[in-house]
Amino acid sequence: MPSRHPWSDRELETLAQLAETIVRGGSVRRAGLAAEALTRSADPSQVRQLRLVLRLLQSRLVNLLLMGKAAAFRDLSPADRERCLLGWAHSRIPLRRSAFQAFGRLLAFIAYADPGSDSMPNPRYAAVGYRPEHPPVTVDRTTIRPVAFDPGEGPVTLEADVVVVGSGAGGGVIAAELTRVGRSVVVVEAGPLVDEAAMPTNELDAYRRLYLNHGLLTTWDG
Ligand SMILES: Cc1cc2nc3c(=O)[nH]c(=O)nc-3n(C[C@H](O)[C@H](O)[C@H](O)COP(=O)(O)OP(=O)(O)OC[C@H]3O[C@@H](n4cnc5c(N)ncnc54)[C@H](O)[C@@H]3O)c2cc1C
Repeated sequence: MPSRHPWSDRELETLAQLAETIVRGGSVRRAGLAAEALTRSADPSQVRQLRLVLRLLQSRLVNLLLMGKAAAFRDLSPADRERCLLGWAHSRIPLRRSAFQAFGRLLAFIAYADPGSDSMPNPRYAAVGYRPEHPPVTVDRTTIRPVAFDPGEGPVTLEADVVVVGSGAGGGVIAAELTRVGRSVVVVEAGPLVDEAAMPTNELDAYRRLYLNHGLLTTWDG
């Protein structure tokens, strides 16, 4: 759960109401995880704008102007909350559309990616028939040999038939196939080496550890 972030209790309550509207259940935990993820990965000025949207959502005057109901978001019925959010998706105001993308995608993603806690695992896993494997993936350990560089020691010379830059979906497969047909391959990778034993066992952990900017890298407007 989140430790230190700039979100007020009121903002987190509103975020939990949004989470509940998007996918029912576990919304307080999801709001905390979403706030933590945005604080860690989004541009601070973007986070300030998203928090402003949360405060405006509870303004009766703003809701009267935008959806014809003089009520705070917390006082709307579930159906009206849904209507309000759908209004954001197609709004002429760019900030509302961006907020819909940012909050909607993140809160829906966390609803399925978060494994939950030991005492309360994510009930959606059972609902969709997903049983995580522990331990996961494979017993065949990697044959990749990491090369440690010490910048103080000067350049390192490596000999290989092929150099592949980036071990993603494309480069990783190419490197493996070349190795299979007997070529020696050097892979240059900006990210850390993660072998089978250290692979994440749930999606939330995978995004935290394997993706640039925790998988939240987008254009400024989402
Ligand atoms: C959040 C997210 C979710 C996704 N979900 C899915 C999904 O469910 N299903 C699906 O099919 N696709 C999904 N995709 C798309 C999929 O990940 C990409 O299409 C695919 O990874 C592209 O492969 P790639 O080899 O071109 O690049 P990448 O897989 O991005 O690999 C590029 C690699 O190069 C490394 N690199 C970059 N620059 C340098 C450098 N200068 N020096 C050294 N290394 C460098 C990077 O660290 C990275 O490891 C998702 C993408 C994102 C961002």
